[in-house]
Amino acid sequence: MSEEKLKIDKIKKGTVIDHIDAGYALTILNLTGLDESPNLMTIGVNVSSKKYNKKDIIKIEGVFLNEIQMQQISILSPNATISLIDNYKVIEKKKVKIPQIIERLILCQNKTCISNSEKEPIDTEFLVLEEKPLKIQCIYCNRNYKLEEIIFTSKEKIEKKVKQAISL
Ligand SMILES: [Zn+2]
Repeated sequence: MSEEKLKIDKIKKGTVIDHIDAGYALTILNLTGLDESPNLMTIGVNVSSKKYNKKDIIKIEGVFLNEIQMQQISILSPNATISLIDNYKVIEKKKVKIPQIIERLILCQNKTCISNSEKEPIDTEFLVLEEKPLKIQCIYCNRNYKLEEIIFTSKEKIEKKVKQAISL
């Protein structure tokens, strides 16, 4: 019953992020900064799913995702689908796609890695070795990371906070 309701509840205009790996919805909201949106959001956690047993789902009114947010979602949930809604109808539906090389979004935790050089810091780049379960490799120092070991950069969020502070 509640599953049916969640499926039927439609948003007028905005985005539906579906087939999120169960338990990752809140992490995704935090990482993408959507948790700071004042817009109406419906979040389903551990919703029954025929395809994946359990899944999370996020519906957010009046928001369309940018490329960085889509990449962040793809790292956490490579099976996620993004539907764009307008006038209660799905106008576009796509599966997130994890890039072959993830740039800037993740930190390398190796202190001696060139990406952590204080003199000439360079953007991190990680080669995606396996999508699920995720396995990535720093292209500079070759260190490997699994999903649960990843530390994301928070640049986006910091910049956004700074901008908000200035506009006040
Ligand atoms: Zn490295």
